[in-house]
Amino acid sequence: MPATIPVHTSRGQYEVRIESGLLARTGAELRAHVAPPPARVAVVTDSNVAPLHLPRVMQSLAEAGFDAAFHIFPAGEASKTIATAAAILDFLARERFTRTDLVLALGGGVVGDVAGFAAAIYLRGVRVVQVPTTFLAAIDSSVGGKTAVDLPAGKNLCGAFWQPARVLCDPAALATLPPEILHDGCAEAIKYGVIADRPLFDLLADGNLAPRLEEVVARCVGIKAEIVARDEFDRGDRALLNFGHTIGHAIEKCSNFSISHGAAVGIGMVRIAEIAARQGWSKEDCAPAIAAALRRYSLPVSASFTPADLLPAMLSDKKRAGGEITLVVPEAIGRCVRHPVPVAELKELL
Ligand code: NAD
Repeated sequence: MPATIPVHTSRGQYEVRIESGLLARTGAELRAHVAPPPARVAVVTDSNVAPLHLPRVMQSLAEAGFDAAFHIFPAGEASKTIATAAAILDFLARERFTRTDLVLALGGGVVGDVAGFAAAIYLRGVRVVQVPTTFLAAIDSSVGGKTAVDLPAGKNLCGAFWQPARVLCDPAALATLPPEILHDGCAEAIKYGVIADRPLFDLLADGNLAPRLEEVVARCVGIKAEIVARDEFDRGDRALLNFGHTIGHAIEKCSNFSISHGAAVGIGMVRIAEIAARQGWSKEDCAPAIAAALRRYSLPVSASFTPADLLPAMLSDKKRAGGEITLVVPEAIGRCVRHPVPVAELKELL
């Protein structure tokens, strides 16, 4: 079932439209739902997505009467840099895009983050429409307005809050994803189930993702929209979306990024659930159920890093404030809470 999910922010409301086949109607969607309609559209995408989906998007923009140009950069996290953002800015300036025009970010989280960041700073801000093509981008990065590039010192260290004008999500576009990239996103979908939606968790744990993909995307986006509306600028409850991420990021870093983000977050969720159960912070031991759900999607549930390995990376976590770090722990499947702990106790907990 197609869905339209509103996201309420300090600058007003935008909508996430989720509908199979939507890519071929991109132009018509912009005409009907982006007000005032842009004069021109700057499509930004990467080298993997371009051959698969760009022609359809360009054709639909032309059919709807838009003058559109595109910019393609090499796929992958290594492209999430100031240099790529600068190349996008050069493209926009060279093509004489103006304030009334629009950037359309067609791709996964890397495209969404870097194109969104370029849109946030070009002419002090032009509108961006996010068109996610990975499962992770569909359920997470395209919604909520966080844009960023990486710096040599770390991921996402340079960015801006820049909410999209609309999000166009075509679940059919996920059909071209390699299985391991689809599965990476499954860890985040399972995360949403654990933090806020037990029936969603059960659906995923039963292995029912494929036949109910559109519904799963809509439910995940609904949860994110609700949390972002409560805490747009990440000062409180938005941290709940980081369930599994504090340990997950440390695992990613310790593995020199050979363990993927989704896999690392999955392991992080199991590990923190085990800690919560041991400490008596949770009402039920959620770790076995989370591990079983992750295995359904061929995701690992443990890694061999020691507390001494993980601790330095955890201490550089953005959620650390002074002598405390806020862990997100499951009280039960379907409900997580923020749990600040003194940094000095972290090693013992691990
Ligand atoms: P990605 O954008 O690198 O995409 C993964 C791979 O899939 C790439 O090689 C890409 O070219 C390819 N691809 C994309 N769509 C495809 C399709 N339909 N068919 C075939 N291949 C396709 O990675 P990702 O996992 O989508 O996103 C990860 C990024 O998102 C990270 O940089 C992370 O920091 C960021 N992120 C941002 C937020 C946020 O709130 N802004 C949230 C979570 C993650």
